[in-house]
Amino acid sequence: MSFKMHLLTSRTVAVILPVLLLLGMLYSYIWRHYRDGIFGQEVRPADGSSSRVDFTIVNHWFHLVASDYLEYQQPSIVQGSRTDVVTVTPWLAPIVWEGTYNPELLDSIYRPQNISIAATVFAVGKYTKFLRDFLETAEQHFFVGFKVHVYVFTDRPKEVHQVKMASGRQLTVVPVPGSNRWQEISARRMELIQTLIEEKLQNHMDYIFCLDVDSKFHGRWGTESLGALVAVIHPGYYRDDRSKFPYERRPESTAYVAPRKGDFYYCGGAFGGLLQEVHRLANTCRTNFEADAKKGIEAAWQEESHLNRYMLINKPTKVLSPEYLWQDFKPRNPEVRIIRFSGVIKNYADIRPNV
Ligand code: UDP
Ligand code: MN
Repeated sequence: MSFKMHLLTSRTVAVILPVLLLLGMLYSYIWRHYRDGIFGQEVRPADGSSSRVDFTIVNHWFHLVASDYLEYQQPSIVQGSRTDVVTVTPWLAPIVWEGTYNPELLDSIYRPQNISIAATVFAVGKYTKFLRDFLETAEQHFFVGFKVHVYVFTDRPKEVHQVKMASGRQLTVVPVPGSNRWQEISARRMELIQTLIEEKLQNHMDYIFCLDVDSKFHGRWGTESLGALVAVIHPGYYRDDRSKFPYERRPESTAYVAPRKGDFYYCGGAFGGLLQEVHRLANTCRTNFEADAKKGIEAAWQEESHLNRYMLINKPTKVLSPEYLWQDFKPRNPEVRIIRFSGVIKNYADIRPNV
């Protein structure tokens, strides 16, 4: 090689190399932002490990388009439709009671968005006997006219009752192992919900609700319940002082709540929201549950305790009144104008694998 040529080559290299380097940095910068912005978020459980979960951005939740043709009653700004109950939390999340919303208006906003809702229900061991009523009444009341996919987790797939479902609605049976401790069945739900979202639901469903199987629908449960993170107020404690809430009270537990803390006591038997929010909740509760287990602690009400701890810090963006999970053995209080979903009376000794 001549001296001139050698000079030319090393000059070319000196120019091309930094340009290539710059292009590489630019590419990785753009890709990282594109991926985070378009596809999702980093989910970091409490133990510091990290798992990447991709979710399509849900735009429609922030943009409510009403039909120009619908006529409805003028909403008042000075006269509340419910004056006997509180309809907003101190962090300005709506509390949903009958009479506070217009179902036709809400449905007309959400129907064109073609939203889809997943529902999970666990029926392990003898609890399969509740499935029939649960599934049949869900057809009559739960998001009627919307795309619904029910996931039944069971160790007895043969006992899953065949229900006739309306078009756009479907059911999938997910086989899970049985257990001889009800506490374990109850606790394992968070892990299975987390896995379901990661493996089956992301980018296919918008919202998810996780419900107890030993219950029936009696009234509408629909678009009024949609929100990023949705909690249901437990029917048993909503008139009580928070010091009486059955939170986990041992400071060694990750579910610990101090006596002078707490908003409302929420149900473990019904919660939901956007996929990414429920994924974060399930992941956190599961991680904390496992951290407790390592120390030999099981929270007072298993995952309900962890859920309550989570919701104390991560405030729900919509709160559902006890209309959304009553208990059949409880007489109806006057402020509860409609019971939408209610736990049936059951004999624990008959149906649980242990007492
Ligand atoms: N569960 C189950 N099999 C069991 C115990 C519990 O499938 O042996 C599931 C079922 O979905 C049930 C939920 O865990 O609805 C919570 O348990 P349970 O309803 O007995 O609790 P409770 O509502 O009485 O507090
Ligand atoms: Mn129950």
